[in-house]
Amino acid sequence: MDKQKLYEELQRLIPKEHIKQDEPLNQYTFTKTGGKADFLVLPSTYEEVQNCILFSRENAIPLTILGNGSNLIIRDGGIRGIVLILSHMDRIFMKDGLIVAQSGATIINVSRYALEQSVTGLEFACGIPGSVGGAVYMNAGAYDGDISQVIDSALVLTEEGELLTLTNEEMELTYRSSLIAKRGYIVLEARFAAKKGEPEAIKARMDELTFLRESKQPLEYPSCGSVFKRPPGYFAGKLIQDSKLQGVSIGGAQVSTKHAGFIVNTGNATATDYLNLIKHVQKTVKENFGVDLETEVKIIGEEQ
Ligand SMILES: Cc1cc2nc3c(=O)[nH]c(=O)nc-3n(C[C@H](O)[C@H](O)[C@H](O)COP(=O)(O)OP(=O)(O)OC[C@H]3O[C@@H](n4cnc5c(N)ncnc54)[C@H](O)[C@@H]3O)c2cc1C
Repeated sequence: MDKQKLYEELQRLIPKEHIKQDEPLNQYTFTKTGGKADFLVLPSTYEEVQNCILFSRENAIPLTILGNGSNLIIRDGGIRGIVLILSHMDRIFMKDGLIVAQSGATIINVSRYALEQSVTGLEFACGIPGSVGGAVYMNAGAYDGDISQVIDSALVLTEEGELLTLTNEEMELTYRSSLIAKRGYIVLEARFAAKKGEPEAIKARMDELTFLRESKQPLEYPSCGSVFKRPPGYFAGKLIQDSKLQGVSIGGAQVSTKHAGFIVNTGNATATDYLNLIKHVQKTVKENFGVDLETEVKIIGEEQ
């Protein structure tokens, strides 16, 4: 289907003002890099998401879902077909004794909402800059907490457009992975346990974690957080530090001098700079310590 025809067809599914053509995706990623999407679509209802899935299947058009773009590198050639971002679906509310959060809400806002409701368990998430959908997909975690410890269930759409409710166990949440990632499901909403706690204690823990994060992470620069997963028995940051890689740059991408696990954009980095620096770090750590560093950050899109 040519692009004009695809644009016309999409307007039957989604209001025109929620469809952007040839949209630069660097505005939607935390590294501020990435090429253009053929079509960026911002659905407002679960039905619109479902219709996009069915339409893309019927017409063999690639469909990609982005969250808040905080764990992503989109190559400089961009993404063909349809890119969905669910940021217009961001309600958070209490229902049946659970916190319900739509996929486009940020997990930081869910953590803040939990504090307002005197709910404990989500303090760990107070500084993780992802969306609810991305956090469930990645089983995001920090400071001994992660999504698997607090999520009750999630409403998802399968690749066939079927609506399913998955329980905590069914989601198979493991270290930075889930069944959702393996099967390519789209998360529409997550429901979190609402265990009552003391507001002062919840607030104190959130303040403590915010202090730790601000003192250790280079939050003054764009980045995608920890680039590499923790290799069994090691810490990625320590291996990178001991390889004397901190401060090493390719183009505008630099191994952070503050936290060796982060690669920051010092001004005008491209996704290609990021990817070349990632390869250089992996090669150097392998040569020095014989350890393979696997990326935690997701790398998608086309070469330029
Ligand atoms: C400064 C900084 C600090 C960070 N600290 C932490 C931390 O402490 N702990 C941690 O775990 N992570 C951390 N991260 C990484 C990141 O915030 C998390 O991995 C987060 O869960 C990613 O969510 P996102 O919405 O940004 O997803 P994106 O980066 O947009 O996408 C990541 C993956 O999730 C998929 N996805 C997104 N939304 C959906 C959906 N609705 N349904 C299905 N799949 C979806 C995407 O397709 C993609 O494959 C940090 C990042 C930064 C920049």
